[in-house]
Amino acid sequence: MKIADKEHSAVATIKHALEKAHKFQSRYNVFNWINDDAIKRAEEIDARIARGEKIGRLAGVPYALKNNFLSRQGGTTASAKILTEFSSPIDATTVAKLEAEGAIMIGRTNLDAFAHGSSTENSYFGTTKNACDFERVAGGSSGGSAVAVALGIVDFATGTDTGGSIRQPASFNGVYGFKPTYGAISRYGVVAMASSTDCIGFFTQNARDLDLLMRISAGQDSRDLTTLPNFYQDSKVQEVRKIGIIEDFDPEHIDTEVLNIMQKRVEQLQKSGYEVVKLSMPALKYALPAYYIIVPAEISSNLSRYDGVRYGWRSEEARDLDELYKQTRDQGFMPENKRRIMIGNFVLSAGFYDAYYLKAAKARTLIIQEYMRAFKQCDLILSLVAPNPAFKLGSKTHDPVSMYMEDIMTVPVSLAGLPALSIPVGKTAAGLPVGLQLIGPQRSDRTLLRFAEQVADLGCGEQNITESNKREEK
Ligand code: GLN
Repeated sequence: MKIADKEHSAVATIKHALEKAHKFQSRYNVFNWINDDAIKRAEEIDARIARGEKIGRLAGVPYALKNNFLSRQGGTTASAKILTEFSSPIDATTVAKLEAEGAIMIGRTNLDAFAHGSSTENSYFGTTKNACDFERVAGGSSGGSAVAVALGIVDFATGTDTGGSIRQPASFNGVYGFKPTYGAISRYGVVAMASSTDCIGFFTQNARDLDLLMRISAGQDSRDLTTLPNFYQDSKVQEVRKIGIIEDFDPEHIDTEVLNIMQKRVEQLQKSGYEVVKLSMPALKYALPAYYIIVPAEISSNLSRYDGVRYGWRSEEARDLDELYKQTRDQGFMPENKRRIMIGNFVLSAGFYDAYYLKAAKARTLIIQEYMRAFKQCDLILSLVAPNPAFKLGSKTHDPVSMYMEDIMTVPVSLAGLPALSIPVGKTAAGLPVGLQLIGPQRSDRTLLRFAEQVADLGCGEQNITESNKREEK
């Protein structure tokens, strides 16, 4: 990350970032909104540098904001029609912290509406394309943020990860994506999806930048009572010697090229002196069904506030209050949002609560216990992020279950509230990026990021300015 100084003006950096943002927009659909006023902020920072005033740790650094973060700049829509016409009177805690350090938001990135999805195809504002292949998905739900970093438009982008929405698009586009321990970063001012697994995190080109962003944004916030005391800044980096590999994912359901890339990296780690231990974690098979019960349940509650009265857009055709609610919600939500609201109401209903929600909650406890046992045998776990590289656009949109299957390796981590990051480790023969997922015990975030740096030093973590971007640069 290049901080502005006397030689590198913030204005020049921001102008360059905005030019790139506009240039790529028509082809990739990265942004819902581009902030041309960002130049004014850059001018202020340059003026402060000229006056010799103190500047922040992110002075003049351009960043992209996932469009489910509230900010007074531009409208927060969560890429859903129902929130068009809404503008926020507040800044999310994370936004306020980043801006206080001088970071400059140059645009709001596209996502699956309300972050429901794994491909950024569920957005009211159209699909975001993969940074390496126009015919493939960007991953999701934070597809726009991942692509913004992969194309080199910005140095970092914010994301939210409820079940994989940072890690999976990071893997599909060849960048770093970090989901911290649940509660590490305040969720205040971020559109809620499933409050018990929602996490704020970042996309970057390297692990060092993730560490800086964590030092800035982690910490307790009186406006989010689930935030943890300042463990990140205070925690010690632990030595990593044993890496756990989960044996329970069926290789038949994993792309062979992806599997080979993982295998090669494991051998490389072994050669470098790390001990690899095999883990049997049978409870993980309950993670996907448990997630797709618990998360819709929380969604159905969190989305009940969008009624056409309190926020944003409302249907013009309604003749009475009842019709206003119904038509606004019918026309304002995407089909995937509605599917989850219905599933959520079903699993919470009196007749089915015990059979579905309660069972899923019990399965979640088993999963948490299984990770606790695993971390008695190893320091960190290494896994794939997704069973395949970025898939073809439209190939899963008509089959929700096959879309949900994409999340099989990321959702267990979310249910247990563990920190995990996706690191780019290679590409398939067709040039599609593949990421590996590093998972640590709760509050091991610093150790995890430090280990990711070591992995990169071993030559396992490729920084990715994509081929398409290199071509653009010429
Ligand atoms: N793909 C997962 C889902 O659709 C995760 C989404 C997320 O993390 N926001 O629920």
